[in-house]
Amino acid sequence: MNAEPVHVCPACPVPLERRPAALGSHLECRSCHGVLINLAVLRQSVDDRVITALWQRVHASALAPSRRCPTCPKLLRPFTTTIGDSDVELDGCLLCQALWFDGAELDQLKAVSGRVAPPRRQQRGYGPSGITAPSFYCATDAFDAVSFIADVFFDFSS
Ligand SMILES: [Zn+2]
Ligand SMILES: [Zn+2]
Repeated sequence: MNAEPVHVCPACPVPLERRPAALGSHLECRSCHGVLINLAVLRQSVDDRVITALWQRVHASALAPSRRCPTCPKLLRPFTTTIGDSDVELDGCLLCQALWFDGAELDQLKAVSGRVAPPRRQQRGYGPSGITAPSFYCATDAFDAVSFIADVFFDFSS
């Protein structure tokens, strides 16, 4: 009864898995830990103005596309955005209205977000005892990519 077609990771040849998350489900690659997130999901927690500004960058990007969107036949459009004082390269699909963050891009966001703003969710005390919970951990102690990305863009907008 699995109606969802196979979506292949743009960075490595393995199928993406649908992952539920606190702020909305997304597709995730178990190999490179990349995630595909629909704008509709991000909109639930990120200011519309931030999403609009981000999307304008996807439209305006002059970078050459090379990777295929996991959920449609189009190529992902690479673009850069500035977070804090760093340029971060991401990918967007104009047709699916989705953003792709591969493992390396997420690592870059983690590094940048650590310098830009204090994590918003640190006070909640999530995470195994003895480990300071970073902002992007959800209650299950699993990395919640959607919450993390929403946090990054929230911090970046404020
Ligand atoms: Zn992958
Ligand atoms: Zn697409």
